[in-house]
Amino acid sequence: MAATPFVRIENVTKRFGRFVALDRISLDIAEGEFLTIVGPSGSGKSTLIRLLVGIDDVSEGTISLNGARIDQMPANKRPTCMVFQSLALFPHMSVGQNIEFPLKLRKMAPAARKARALELLALLRMPADYYGKRISQCSGGERQRVALARALAFDPEIIVFDEPLSALDYRLRKTLEKELKDLHARTGKTFVYITHSLEEAMVMSDRIAIMRAGRFEQIASAEEIYSRPVSRFVANFMGEVNLFRLAMNDAGEPEWEDGGIRAAPGALEAAAGWRGTLMVRPELMHLLEDGTGWDFTLDGKVVAEYALGSRIQYAVETAAGSIVTVERPFETRVDDALGRQMRLGWERASVHLIPEGADDGKA
Ligand code: ATP
Repeated sequence: MAATPFVRIENVTKRFGRFVALDRISLDIAEGEFLTIVGPSGSGKSTLIRLLVGIDDVSEGTISLNGARIDQMPANKRPTCMVFQSLALFPHMSVGQNIEFPLKLRKMAPAARKARALELLALLRMPADYYGKRISQCSGGERQRVALARALAFDPEIIVFDEPLSALDYRLRKTLEKELKDLHARTGKTFVYITHSLEEAMVMSDRIAIMRAGRFEQIASAEEIYSRPVSRFVANFMGEVNLFRLAMNDAGEPEWEDGGIRAAPGALEAAAGWRGTLMVRPELMHLLEDGTGWDFTLDGKVVAEYALGSRIQYAVETAAGSIVTVERPFETRVDDALGRQMRLGWERASVHLIPEGADDGKA
């Protein structure tokens, strides 16, 4: 038999009146895992973590930790701690007093409290003299680190983050993403993290759970979700992507929505009658003069190009009117591509097939 999971969320439903915010969802979280929950606004991310930390009650289903149910336990008894976007620090207190707050609640002696606060400051790579600094004198990034140190002072089994970096500027966010990942490795704690940002999820997480309308659409590693999404919705959610609808006819030949696509014999591994979408990521497409010998080709006019630092992105309009995105290393830039008719080529190994689902039309 499989070992008892660390956290098990089983068949959880949450209703607000007649509205179903979470619809019989199940998820196991391993001890020490960094799990990120992503999904569009209103998909149920916050609702789920509110149930996990005990701010709200499940309507149905169970949440267990090491096999023991915690869904009826009051929030302050649960082994979880939440870090919010609005940090909820005490502005009139010093950094040290903020970090020590949970320890004071636990009646730890002042000297031991201070020693622990200094340890946590060091863990978050903050200078020891910040101990006496007021919160109002700290920058946004420093406040975020203090909030993290305070969360760690609670010594929870699970730290739950609700979009903690979304209010910060880009550079700081990038720095803190890496620091959080590093902090996760150093503390060995279980992190459950919510974000709108795919990039954030990809940088930090062991696994990503994609939510859609109160359900999980896919739960897998970032790599798996990026290269083998289960639906058009997930494919679209995980960055730039080219999606071509197709149906295999009774003779086993492809019929494309975009009639300009040509597939070499045997390049498509789909049986007669199969319907769905062929996905190719932009970085796996090649911009060619008139290449032959490719598994797939499609001709079109380069209508835009965007320099993205080390990469260059082309928008190519096909005869059928679809826009295809191609992304290449900047050093391979084709100087006079803009406005020209060119050929796109890609290999069968770059292709992922998504079968048509009941909700395919929505994505
Ligand atoms: P966002 O990314 O915008 O924070 P989210 O994925 O976290 O969105 P939730 O806050 O979990 O979404 O909300 C899920 C759905 O449940 C939304 O449609 C929301 O309006 C609804 N909802 C949440 N809390 C309540 C409540 N207390 N009463 C009624 N409806 C609620």
